Amino acid sequence: MPKDTKKRRKLDGASRTRAPEKFAGAEELYGIENWGKGFFSVSDEGDLLVHPTREAARSINLKGVVDDVSRRGITTPMVIRFPQILASSVRELNDAFVKAINEYEYDGSYRGVFPIKVNQKKVVVREIQEAGRKYGYGLEAGSKPELIAALSADLSPECLITTNGYKDEAFIRMALNGIRMGKKVIMILEKVSELDRILDVAKKRGVKPLIGLRAKLYARGSGKWAKSGGEAAKFGLTTTEILKAVEVLKARRMLDSLVMVHFHIGSQITDIRKIKDAIKESGRVYAKLARSGVEIQYLNLGGGLGVDYDGSKTAFDSSMNYTVQEYANDVVYTVKTICEEEKVPVPTLVTESGRAVTAFHSVLVTNVVDVADRLEQDKTVEMDGDENHVVRELYDVLKGVSAKNVRESYHDALQYKEELFTLFNLGYVSLEDRSKGEILFWNICDKIRRHLKSLKEIPEEFEDLEVMLSDKYVLNFSVFQSIPDSWAIDQLFPILPIHRLRERPAESGTLTDITCDSDGKIEKFIDLRDIKESLPLHNFRRHQPYLIGICLIGAYQDVLGDLHNLLGEAHEVLAIVDENGRTRIQDLLPGETCERVLSYMNWERQEILEGFWRQLRRATEKGKIRETEAKAIAKDLEVTLSHYTYLED
Ligand SMILES: *Cc1c(COP(=O)(O)O)cnc(C)c1O
Repeated sequence: MPKDTKKRRKLDGASRTRAPEKFAGAEELYGIENWGKGFFSVSDEGDLLVHPTREAARSINLKGVVDDVSRRGITTPMVIRFPQILASSVRELNDAFVKAINEYEYDGSYRGVFPIKVNQKKVVVREIQEAGRKYGYGLEAGSKPELIAALSADLSPECLITTNGYKDEAFIRMALNGIRMGKKVIMILEKVSELDRILDVAKKRGVKPLIGLRAKLYARGSGKWAKSGGEAAKFGLTTTEILKAVEVLKARRMLDSLVMVHFHIGSQITDIRKIKDAIKESGRVYAKLARSGVEIQYLNLGGGLGVDYDGSKTAFDSSMNYTVQEYANDVVYTVKTICEEEKVPVPTLVTESGRAVTAFHSVLVTNVVDVADRLEQDKTVEMDGDENHVVRELYDVLKGVSAKNVRESYHDALQYKEELFTLFNLGYVSLEDRSKGEILFWNICDKIRRHLKSLKEIPEEFEDLEVMLSDKYVLNFSVFQSIPDSWAIDQLFPILPIHRLRERPAESGTLTDITCDSDGKIEKFIDLRDIKESLPLHNFRRHQPYLIGICLIGAYQDVLGDLHNLLGEAHEVLAIVDENGRTRIQDLLPGETCERVLSYMNWERQEILEGFWRQLRRATEKGKIRETEAKAIAKDLEVTLSHYTYLED
């Protein structure tokens, strides 16, 4: 008996070591702790959790949400929004300014506005409006429709509504209507020529307008939008024009309408020094105007507050080297210092931060539909001696690859592959030999890659190899619809699986979407020090969902997305976590159907149905198909028109 027990124990021990080891490195591998800002974590089971209120104990399980809504017919891709994150972000920004104002004993206040061009979705604007109510947080609009949306919001009278962009008469009338409705609507001049027109319309209507001047600063931003600032900027008044505007207002005895100095040097300013330079310059513009007797009340610092998408805390394009609190501190301190020097009262501070307020609030979740791995990589070649000489050369290269000659072997392989295709085009190589040559080439690359893994640093010329060999994970979504900035300006977003995170990812891959556009792919990923060329991923098991989350897409992506391939808007899910830490699905907004996206291009339902019918009738008359079959086809069409534009199984 004792013997038996011993054996038993031994077996138990063995099976325990065989159980898959729990991977503890997901947080670091995907940088969650760096970019997540306390909103994201990983559960013990390996699921991605969202903490909309930033409390560790209250979380939403993303996979849980997907499973839950799938029972109600909502499938991936879906945008999951967390309204509470919007509220947290509004609070963070406003509290940062309140704190800085107290700390530096600033004798004025902060009145932020949300620029709705960053995300005009009603749920987003309404949530921000509610969260901002106690701070007197307002809205910014840049066009007629945005102004209409902003004016329809029931904001308290101390909230600002600032308007930027070119204005026609209808725009000006609506802004003045807003003033009549008791709102503080400020029209910011982009061009001096707009002033006369505004004053004329205002006079006709008998309304006193509120006017701001957008200053063209010498200071420039940093990062992708650096050109929005500086002397060559598209918008803004030069010093001469500012003085001209003051003259015009004086002459018309309306100088007291001029209430704001504004600037905007571009979005995602990565370097705090650029912000300081702009504040210094605009602060002086304000102070000099104030000294000359213009009673400016507001200094509006525009947008630009960044988001640390890669979590590296650097001045890199997808990052920022400062915090929201540092931003607020610099604004408050710098303006205060200038006003003291110039002996003028401090202005009310305004910012139009959009990206920082919205970026974190949504995640796109979608499923991997396929992995396009290279079949040739895993195959071997039987040589029969009759092959073309290039194939034999490739075979010899393969046999000879060693740690010492990787570079030489790689160059030889590339050269022979080139030669293989040239000879094929000339008719000297059979299909069988071409296939053998390709297999050998990929075998060589694979072998080289294994040798490279032992090197400390991978030489630059092999970086392409890594990309060539990485698998292509096909995701059920459209880059153009869901993350247009990834395509348009190489913006990086944190991307990671939303489950299996306690399993060490064994593969690495790049991502492609289901559009037929070769640009519909993601081949650059966030990294602390650099940009990664491929993403660590788990092996894909067919018939088992593998879900990927693209995070921090709440700013600009919802609006800039387009209908490439007529892939429409994704389903939307609003998720909140209640007092008890339970997840609640607040709302489901179904994504666009085939019928809807077709109608945008003027393909009306009725016309499509008739088009089908006409052809079906002709075919039945000619006896090509039976009546019942024609009916089935027509029925199928009607059903498909109401379907989601993305893959559903
Ligand atoms: C786009 C824009 C903003 C918002 O900028 P963010 O960088 O998203 O904060 C603010 N003000 C103006 C005038 C803008 O054009």
